Amino acid sequence: MNSAKYISTRGKIAPISFQDAVMMGLAEDGGLLIPAEIPQVQNKLEQWKTLSYPELAFHIIRLFTGNDIPDPDLKKIIQKSYATFTADDVVPVKKLADKLYFAELFHGPTLAFKDIALQFLGNVFEYILQQRGGILNIIGATSGDTGSAAIHGVRGKKGIQIFIMYPDGRVSPLQERQMATVADKNVHCLAIHGTFDDGQRVMKEIFNDLPFKKEFSLGAINSVNWARILAQIVYYFWATFRVQDQCNTTDNIQVAVPTGNFGDIFAGYIAKKMGAPISRLILATNENDILSRFFTTGKYTLGEVHPTLSPSMDIQIASNFERYLYYRVHQDAAKTRALMAEFAEKKTITCVGADPDFAAGRGNTAQTLATIQKYYNTANYILDPHSAVGVAVAEQFQRSEPTVCLGTAHPGKFPAAIDEALGKSGLAKHEKLESLLALPLYKTLIEPTRYTIEQFVRENQKVQ
Ligand SMILES: *Cc1c(COP(=O)(O)O)cnc(C)c1O
Repeated sequence: MNSAKYISTRGKIAPISFQDAVMMGLAEDGGLLIPAEIPQVQNKLEQWKTLSYPELAFHIIRLFTGNDIPDPDLKKIIQKSYATFTADDVVPVKKLADKLYFAELFHGPTLAFKDIALQFLGNVFEYILQQRGGILNIIGATSGDTGSAAIHGVRGKKGIQIFIMYPDGRVSPLQERQMATVADKNVHCLAIHGTFDDGQRVMKEIFNDLPFKKEFSLGAINSVNWARILAQIVYYFWATFRVQDQCNTTDNIQVAVPTGNFGDIFAGYIAKKMGAPISRLILATNENDILSRFFTTGKYTLGEVHPTLSPSMDIQIASNFERYLYYRVHQDAAKTRALMAEFAEKKTITCVGADPDFAAGRGNTAQTLATIQKYYNTANYILDPHSAVGVAVAEQFQRSEPTVCLGTAHPGKFPAAIDEALGKSGLAKHEKLESLLALPLYKTLIEPTRYTIEQFVRENQKVQ
């Protein structure tokens, strides 16, 4: 056992424990929490290769939870988190083409990779409340996938209420059904009159209302929460091991990641630092390409958000980028602080030199559609539009070693894009989604103001 500690990228908080890091979400100095030390595991890889997914998750996650969660408890949390996945090995890894593999991360309750982290986070929250007593009110704003995965992570859990704001009429009908058909009393879907930005703005206002935050023990489920990154580190080891097995090689593997908030690929960056057999991370964006521009030019410059076929990647300010920046400036918190202040003021910053751990590119709408069509024709496999962006960019960077692309959502979640790509409808389906069509919706229409939402939380937080 070790005593894993967490520090802030801005260097202004004393080191805290894993449990405190999970409850704090964003660091209180405005930075992001990161482990004070990254464990080195090169000498464990051979042994880890033979483990099942939950076993591997246990061995990796315990290095970051330290004395805060005893091994038997952690094992139970992990078992419970991945028992809700329908694939036997949790994350199946399939072959798409020569030296091109695909890791299906979407066999959880809401059919997107966010379940891998949010099933775990929901169980960790429940465990911490059991240890410490008290309650938790989770408030989040979503444009689609995060809200449903978070709801399914905490539905029915004692002591936890979840309030998710989404723009009424602006999420896809399937996405709304994945959230609003959940009948558990601790789940509150707030359909706001407004846009996703209105929801996000109100959420920030509520988290900045410190007396309210304290009185109602607010919790955060977005990817600034370290526990989400932690759970995602696991599948970088898993996927590269499986490709090494299938290719009968000990070469390091490239991993291609469709990227929005930089949460997923940051987990890959940590995995690589730990010693996972990753040769290079391939960062793939859609037309919202602030991150691919950064890795090709060194300039991190805010642009406008364009709606695309891969809406979960339609992001300009990547909330996890600060974590990467901290390592990029050699763990210099003062420098990170200065760069973030510069970005807030000028909307642009520059880093000189390239980072050999990354290659980066973008896939536009035409490439996304063509890629979906191509793998349907050549491999009889339907990629969802987010994963297709990853595969399209991976193709540009293939080299002698194999590449594994992360599959972030099931295609059935995005039927309109699949129909457009394949020129016929009804090919992308999932029984879980079909069964939602018959269920009633539980949602509250509400104005997006701090006052109305706080009032709603006051009135509903004692249901359990
Ligand atoms: C959230 C999401 C992404 C982007 O992941 P980040 O961690 O934000 O980079 C990609 N694909 C799908 C389907 C998602 O839901």
